[in-house]
Amino acid sequence: MNLIIFGAPGVGKGTQAKIISEKLNIAHISTGDILREAVKNKTELGSKAKAIMDSGELVPDEIVAGIVKDTLNGDKCSNGFILDGFPRTLPQSQLLKTIFDELDIKNIKLIKLDAEDQVMINRLSSRRVCSSCGKIISKDEVFEGVKCSVCGEVNSFIKRTDDDEEVIKKRLSVYHNTTSPVFDYYQDKVTIIEIDGTQHVDDVTKEILEKLGLN
Ligand code: AMP
Repeated sequence: MNLIIFGAPGVGKGTQAKIISEKLNIAHISTGDILREAVKNKTELGSKAKAIMDSGELVPDEIVAGIVKDTLNGDKCSNGFILDGFPRTLPQSQLLKTIFDELDIKNIKLIKLDAEDQVMINRLSSRRVCSSCGKIISKDEVFEGVKCSVCGEVNSFIKRTDDDEEVIKKRLSVYHNTTSPVFDYYQDKVTIIEIDGTQHVDDVTKEILEKLGLN
């Protein structure tokens, strides 16, 4: 199954993409995760991307599209994929079309998660991420000695540098101005599934699976 998960920062794309990729045994391709890994490892890509990401702006289209092409072309996508955080601009959508054509990838479904900005602001400002495995919890669940339920790391939960209040506002404005036209672009090109992203995580997953015809 070939999926794109779409929506504003903080709407739950990463959480759902991870669950859906595990359930369907498909690759989870998060451009944000790939870029953060590059920053952590201080690679050339990471050093180009860090300041841009910290400001809430977008990394240049060609760089991100190159990463996506290499990943889609790899073995881990042979059973399908869920693209999370890409495409985020109209040029990226066009680059993705070229990549899909070149790699003969068809039957794309786009899952759009919806929520009001205030929901995203509240979620992102209280979000804490395991620096070891990426597991997301709320700051209310963090205490001295807290152990990650996924990887077992202790005291590993941190606030992402771009989850700062001003940067959150910037990311939402980039979403509304630059990313939301991507949804219009796909309207008549792929199957669209729209879901209320304010529901409980399990209910969002259930609805996605139902609308994919899998439940
Ligand atoms: P995310 O984890 O998806 O919220 O992405 C975090 C940051 O990585 C974004 O705010 C951008 O700076 C960068 N990024 C991730 N995906 C893309 C993309 N498709 N195009 C450009 N920049 C991206």
